[in-house]
Order: sequence, then structure tokens, then C-alpha cells
Amino acid sequence: MAKPDRVIVIGAGIIGASCAYHLAARGQQVTVLEKFDAPAEGSTGRSFASVRGQWSDELNITISWESIQTFRDFEKLYKVDVGYRPTGYMYLVPESGWETQLQHVAFQQDHGVPVDAISFEDAQNKTPFVQDGLGGVTWGAADGVVDPYLATNAYISMAKSLGAVFHMKTEVHEITRTEAGWSIRAGDSIYEADYIVNCAGGWSSETAKLAGFDIPVEHFRRNIYSTAPNSTPVHPMTIDLNTGFFLRSEGERLLFGLARADEPAGYNTSVDWDWMETVMETGGERFPWLLDTPLDPTGAWAGTYEITPDHFPILGALPEEPTWINACGFSGHGVMQAPYVGKLIAEELCDGKSHSIDIEPLRINRLRDGNLRSETMVF
Ligand SMILES: Cc1cc2nc3c(=O)[nH]c(=O)nc-3n(C[C@H](O)[C@H](O)[C@H](O)COP(=O)(O)OP(=O)(O)OC[C@H]3O[C@@H](n4cnc5c(N)ncnc54)[C@H](O)[C@@H]3O)c2cc1C
Repeated sequence: MAKPDRVIVIGAGIIGASCAYHLAARGQQVTVLEKFDAPAEGSTGRSFASVRGQWSDELNITISWESIQTFRDFEKLYKVDVGYRPTGYMYLVPESGWETQLQHVAFQQDHGVPVDAISFEDAQNKTPFVQDGLGGVTWGAADGVVDPYLATNAYISMAKSLGAVFHMKTEVHEITRTEAGWSIRAGDSIYEADYIVNCAGGWSSETAKLAGFDIPVEHFRRNIYSTAPNSTPVHPMTIDLNTGFFLRSEGERLLFGLARADEPAGYNTSVDWDWMETVMETGGERFPWLLDTPLDPTGAWAGTYEITPDHFPILGALPEEPTWINACGFSGHGVMQAPYVGKLIAEELCDGKSHSIDIEPLRINRLRDGNLRSETMVF
């Protein structure tokens, strides 16, 4: 058998954990370096934890739907329940977008995703809303939630059982290309590697810069607000496509939010209380009952999306340096895409190229050449 490559994975979020597992399962000698005290302390642990197969872009549909099926089958495959629950996902679609949305539904169905247009009556029974200006509603029955902590830790345990080594509180701060490969100074130690897999989330441009590469990923804050417990019946994930306002139940609370478009990039995890009034006004127009629901500031949190110029991830080896592999910039969708991405990255490293699907359109060159992709269903 060929000697395993020494692979350093930077970052123990859900993407790094999935990559580490899939690489270890392919026989590689994997070391994961993480700057925080524990795994999933970056975007992963601050996620809204929702998963969906409803996208407009074929690669987003495929990567998400493959991953959702893995979450669904996780217990059968790996003997761990990672909290996948098909609580459903409902899009309230404006009249102007309804024809196009029906085309997306047909496209999603062609890819095996269980999604349908449903009647306003059925939709109102799931979450009551003001119907003005809407053309219809779509429902993804297998969409829902997963537990990002459980999933990350499951991948880490499985990777460890295959020999992978994880170092927490070990920030990578220097990366040097050597004749033999890579030399990485992290924490108080130096690590040697044949390959580096950059899974540093919103910090990926900083880690790439240490090695002299330009990877365009930036942090943008997102806020989740919360009602008090016991204040509402159970609601599935519901998004008003007209505004991007979204809500869903979590236990006895209702969680909700809306992206703030005018906020500059930067890492910030304190809740934006100034923004909440706009969020309530916007949500209250479609869901007036929300305005009478008691809120609880202690249930709110904020984290950052790791955003690329076209909101698609950057995957695969750099053309100028095949031993540097990116798996970053998921732009707010990394939890629901992690299982399949780990498999693709292991193929890229072990087989010279991802082959389960063609990831060419997600490589860095699209951004360098100005061939940005387009996805209408990002919020
Ligand atoms: C409010 C919010 C809601 C979201 N909702 C959803 C959702 O519903 N569904 C969904 O799929 N996604 C959602 N996301 C996005 C999702 O959380 C991310 O896409 C995903 O977690 C990215 O995972 P990651 O492993 O790439 O990044 P991260 O989880 O950020 O992990 C990167 C890791 O790299 C480490 N690192 C960085 N630099 C270094 C260094 N120099 N040395 C060592 N370690 C380093 C960091 O400490 C971090 O732990 C949401 C995000 C937020 C903030």
C-alpha cells in the first residue's frame, strides 16, 4: 500500500471535521489544527442549523441533498444520531417570482428532492401569514434541522478512531513552503505536511495569506432573535422570499431573523439590537401575530457567515499549488453541505480530482476569471 500523505487540516468546524474524517477513511495521516478551545466554536456553533434541498443552482441542490441524505442516514451508517429532523421548510413566494419558483421545484424534483407546491390553506395550517402579494408556497418535506455540534463531534470521533489527531488552542500563524512540502508554525509547535486543507471558514483568506495566496472570503454578521419559551405553537422553517425574513421553532421558542445588507464585513458575534426593530417591522407585516409574542433577549445570538463574492464555496486544489486545497467560503450554507464536501475533498486529495461530481465550477478560477455563479435562494 502507498505511504499515506501527511495532511494538515486548518479548522475544526463542521467542514474541517468532515474533511478530516473522509481523509482518514481514505488512509491519510491527518492532523487538525484549531485555534479555539473546542471544535465548532466558529460559524458552525452559531448556525441556525437548517438544511434544505430547495435551491436554484444544480450544484447547491446536489451537494445539499446528498448531505441531507447522509444526515438522515447517519445513525444507520455511523451509529450516531446527529439530530437531523425533517421538520420541513416553507417558502412564501411573491407573485412576480412564482413561475420561476415552479421551474426551480421541477428542477429540484428531477434531482430527487422531495419538494412540492402546496395550497395556501395547507401552508396557513403550518404557519399563519398574510397572503397579500404572494403567488404560492413551496414545501420541502425532507428539509429541516440537524445539530451542528453533534455532527461536528461525530465526524471528529470517527476521524480520531481512524488515527486522526486534533489539536485545540493551536492557532496557525506561519506557513512556509519547503522542498519536502509544508512547514506550519501553530501554537508552540512546528508541523510538517505534504498537503494543507484550508477549512478556516471566515478566516480562510487570512490562513491563505500566510502562504501567499489570495482567497476572497469575508465575515458578515448574522443575528438570530428569540421569543420567550412557551409563547407560540410549533412552526417549521418559513421564509418570506419577498423580504428574506425567516422563522422556525426551536423547542418552546420561536427563532427569527433577517440579514442586514448595509453592514460592512468583519468578525463580530455580539447581537445587533439596533437592527431588531427593522426585523420585527418586516416580519410583523407578514406574520402579525409575531408582534404580540413576548420576546426573550437571552435566547438571541449572532455569528458570521463566511461569504465569497458569489456566495458559492471555494473548493479544490489551487491551480498554482496542487498541495493547497480549499474547502471554505460556504456563505451561510456550510452545515447543510459538510457531509458531501468532505467526501469530495478526500477524492480531490487522494485521487487527484473530485469525481463524484465535477467541482470545476466551484474552483477559485471562476472568481479570478470573473465567472461568478448565481443562486437566487440565498438570504
Ligand atoms: C447565524 C448563522 C446562521 C446560519 N445558519 C445556517 C443554516 O441554517 N444552515 C447552514 O447550513 N449553515 C448555516 N450557517 C452557516 C454555517 O454555520 C457555516 O457555513 C459553517 O459552519 C461553516 O463551517 P466551517 O467549518 O467552514 O467554518 P467554521 O465553523 O467557522 O470553522 C472554521 C474554523 O477554523 C478555525 N480557524 C480559523 N483560523 C485558524 C487558524 N489560523 N488556526 C487554526 N484554526 C483556525 C476557526 O477557529 C474555526 O473553528 C449559519 C451561520 C450563522 C452565523
